[in-house]
Amino acid sequence: MIPVPLFPNETVAVFGLARSGLAAARALKAGGANVVAWDDNERGRAAADGEIPLVHPAHWSWSEVRALVLSPGIPLTHPRPHDVVLAAQAHGVEIIGDIELFCRTLKAMGHFNGNGGPAFFSQGTVNPTHGLRGNGNGNGSKAKTPLICITGTNGKSTTTALIGHLLARNGWDAQVGGNIGKPVLELGAPREGTIYVLELSSYQLDLTPSLKPNVAVLLNITPDHLDRHGGMDGYIAAKRRIFARQGQGDLAVIGVDTPAAAETCTAVSGRGGPSVAPVAVDRVVGRGIYALDGVLYDGLYSPPAEIADLKGVATLTGAHNWENAAAAYAAVRGYIKDPKAIGRAFASFAGLPHRLEAVGKIGKVRFLNDSKATNADAAEKALAAYPGDIHWIIGGVAKEGGIESLKRYFPRIARAYLIGQAADDFAETLAKAGVAYSRCGTLEAAAREALAEAQAETAENPVVLLSPACASFDQFQDYEERGNHFRRIVAELERGEGAAAAA
Ligand code: ADP
Repeated sequence: MIPVPLFPNETVAVFGLARSGLAAARALKAGGANVVAWDDNERGRAAADGEIPLVHPAHWSWSEVRALVLSPGIPLTHPRPHDVVLAAQAHGVEIIGDIELFCRTLKAMGHFNGNGGPAFFSQGTVNPTHGLRGNGNGNGSKAKTPLICITGTNGKSTTTALIGHLLARNGWDAQVGGNIGKPVLELGAPREGTIYVLELSSYQLDLTPSLKPNVAVLLNITPDHLDRHGGMDGYIAAKRRIFARQGQGDLAVIGVDTPAAAETCTAVSGRGGPSVAPVAVDRVVGRGIYALDGVLYDGLYSPPAEIADLKGVATLTGAHNWENAAAAYAAVRGYIKDPKAIGRAFASFAGLPHRLEAVGKIGKVRFLNDSKATNADAAEKALAAYPGDIHWIIGGVAKEGGIESLKRYFPRIARAYLIGQAADDFAETLAKAGVAYSRCGTLEAAAREALAEAQAETAENPVVLLSPACASFDQFQDYEERGNHFRRIVAELERGEGAAAAA
């Protein structure tokens, strides 16, 4: 835990007591603040009960509250601000998130003053075994801790985990947290060789006004969460906040394969602030990092150097993962001396659960759990990663537009298996396009039927792919529960096949 010493004997209100809110309340308390907290949900309150004083916001003494720490899940501006936000604003109380507490705390401890930046274009490489770069006077002055932050519509968690992996394999104490699951204030305190690697959502960026990452990564921007940002412009503005306070000596890594992110790249490049490393897939970008047919090139220097062939890395299957790998490489490039050592470290990346995760094989049939694909954009990446013979399990609660946008991949589908609420809508789209489908209702029925169909076909490499293009909450608590359930079903099917073979 990183105690937050910013409010000794002062009152700080925490609203929202899921993982990050609870961690913030604990860290504030450990730092000497008087914490009052609330969650509209019984479950959140139960988690804090007995440990953090629970007081309904109607009874807070607003005149004594120094700051409101808001959970990122609670509406700050749209569709309408939560009542607690309006009350804080009425009393002139600043509203911040746990990442802001972290940044201010590290700054108060003498870190994050801008000297942990990557030695990107000119100064060589920052090296963990030589200690962190000091303040430039060369007399062993207080070290600074680098901060790498990652945002984007899709690929954040994969890229964040991959950056952590590449750094750890090369001797750094990579502390990985934020939106990826581990609350930032639960990370370890900085020591020599620490680099913080934080995944940030657009909501978290809205609550972190003093953020100044040494390396900021924006992967892509496509429409998402628009209700919470008042439309696409608001969403793009939130994502761009990751670069707002970056200056010379910092690095901006920006994917240029989606129009809104490409425009951001142009805007940040023109600002004369951070160095910019553009990232692209299947095309060359000048002074950038790119992947061509799965081979990663470092074109930051001329001539471009080949870094790694990612086609052999199962946990980085598909062009979308090549984008993530290229961005991760660009982000760590200034912290690892030998580019080839970065290239080698890709091979040992374990991948993340629920993202094209290989969860079993029965005979020739491979099972892939891509439960994290809760929208059509994400499912598209999965369909694009396999050339054909896909037995596709889809459904749940559909997002606007359904699966219409996936039509160009329909020829790759051997058969679709529909589950959950979206079945009628999806059946209509598939029928119109001439794709064979079955209405299965449950995930279990879908997996069984998909296995039988895939086994019966003549194709050599069929895959059963759960990439639902839907939210899960009609049948599951969240995508993780859905993916875990799928994993269990596959394990049972494997056991069943084993038993049948032995009989
Ligand atoms: P996030 O944390 O942004 O939700 P994840 O790394 O968890 O991203 O990946 C979620 C899903 O998004 C994956 O299952 C995949 O389908 C898709 N995806 C991953 N990387 C990318 C990318 N670079 N571009 C587009 N889609 C991606």
